[in-house]
Amino acid sequence: MTAPETWPEGWNVERLHADHAQALRISHEFYDSATEHQRLRVFENPTFGRVMTLDGVVQVTEADNFIYHEMLTHVPILAHGAVGRVLIIGGGDGGMAREVLKHRGVEQVTMVEIDGAVVDFCTSHLPAISAGAFDDPRLDLVIADGADFMKQNADCYDVIIVDSTDPVGPGEVLFTDSFYGHAKARLAPGGILVTQNGVPFLQGAELTNTMRAFRALFADATCYLASVPSYAGGAMAFGWGTQGAARRVDLATLQDRFARAEIATDYYTPEVHLAAFALPPYVARLIG
Ligand code: SAM
Repeated sequence: MTAPETWPEGWNVERLHADHAQALRISHEFYDSATEHQRLRVFENPTFGRVMTLDGVVQVTEADNFIYHEMLTHVPILAHGAVGRVLIIGGGDGGMAREVLKHRGVEQVTMVEIDGAVVDFCTSHLPAISAGAFDDPRLDLVIADGADFMKQNADCYDVIIVDSTDPVGPGEVLFTDSFYGHAKARLAPGGILVTQNGVPFLQGAELTNTMRAFRALFADATCYLASVPSYAGGAMAFGWGTQGAARRVDLATLQDRFARAEIATDYYTPEVHLAAFALPPYVARLIG
């Protein structure tokens, strides 16, 4: 477990990348300790609000998590149009479950998180992120390794969301061909797999690797983008894989589904949804 450097005193320095660091000023420290799997830290930053890091890497902030969570949930759910069952791998802070559960048509959400301490801690110290999601009767929380679960589970899901840490430490197994292959087997007809795939400008190889695997597995394999201020380095990529035609949904249909969903958002709109799949050449080259 890499200890987060502080530089100067009173700053959290994220060193996810070899030649780039991100420092956030700590105006108040809530917690800094090791769980069974990783080092969990929560502190207050005047701009981002409460920030949680795992092994020194920013996972979620109160101020900008809406962008990431809205784009990894409403894009696949509204593109699909008839989602009943959702699987979340990771997502310990509860933000992904919060957004999925806003869809009244979603009957059941299974969330598989390796580190129960992250759930426990975020429930008590970052309650705004999950906003009661862990109390929703539709949510089944499983504390297990997502890769093991995917291998052993026999259920099928309309949307699978991989909301994991980066491919270091416990998250590494969630970026492998075998994991993606098992995930595909868990998709119901027309089902969609979406993944947290890092910031292409700084983590291009990660995206290239996932897209290589997705192209071998899915008829429709691509990514879409959104910029999340606390995930430094430019736009973040979300992997997209499906055998179905969900990505071809037209604007009018998305607008109708979004209106009927009656969900308030601060980043997602049907227009943003479609535009997110327009890839600049430097990203298009990475996905081959
Ligand atoms: N938004 C963040 C990002 O983009 O990096 C992810 C946030 S969420 C807190 C990441 C979660 O993935 C953590 O709670 C971590 O414990 C969980 N995780 C890491 N490896 C896992 C695995 N193999 N199985 C299940 N959960 C895992």
